Amino acid sequence: MKITVVGFWHAYPEAGEAASGYLIEENGFSVLIDCGSGVVSNVQRYIKLEHIDAVVVSHYHNDHVSDIGAFHYFRLLQPYIQTAPAKPVRVFGHRDDRNGFSGLSYKNIVEAEAYDENTPLQIGPFVFQFYPVQHAVPCFAMRIQGNSGCLFYTADTSYFEKMAEWAEGADLLIAEASLYSGQDGSGPGHMNSVEAGRLAAHAEVKELLLTHLPHFGNHQQLVKEAASVYDGMIHLAASGWNKTI
Ligand SMILES: [Zn+2]
Ligand SMILES: [Zn+2]
Repeated sequence: MKITVVGFWHAYPEAGEAASGYLIEENGFSVLIDCGSGVVSNVQRYIKLEHIDAVVVSHYHNDHVSDIGAFHYFRLLQPYIQTAPAKPVRVFGHRDDRNGFSGLSYKNIVEAEAYDENTPLQIGPFVFQFYPVQHAVPCFAMRIQGNSGCLFYTADTSYFEKMAEWAEGADLLIAEASLYSGQDGSGPGHMNSVEAGRLAAHAEVKELLLTHLPHFGNHQQLVKEAASVYDGMIHLAASGWNKTI
């Protein structure tokens, strides 16, 4: 599967960029994971909106879901823009926040489907397994198995040991690193760089991508700090960063 970073900013996007959004593609099937501020604009650098087959959101904070509204309006206008019938799009979220979940649906144009931690979900060529993590609101990490590789995405969470079992052996770990070494994110439910590195080390993943990056400090420092506990390859998220696993 090919993974492309559409957006990686914590909380809000910097100029011309996007908050959380990741595009995964395999055999012509495309899934957008999270749809934060700026994602609908920026994803068009990599794919036409009409070619997105599914959207999966981890939780209902604005930096992960606010552009769902923009995506709804695209679907509304799509019949005027293209002559071929629009292919269906599936939108998935969890039901642990009913208002958040209902916000994924729009008129009779988009009808959201629920996922939960008990049921693996086949979406095109991908099998998603969802895991509840520790965040200010209900939020789910995802293990995504493709034909050729396995991706684990922490979404937003503080560090806890169990997560390493869920992420074990992944070809790529996309881990949030909202904070620098020594900063404690356990209250709001975020990880710092060292915790992201520790997760990668304990899970023995092949490579680590640090994302959900803070608006302060020097991001290269996050890499150095994660490398103090993880000796695999560490990447820093950037708009358009991509990798095939
Ligand atoms: Zn969040
Ligand atoms: Zn977030």
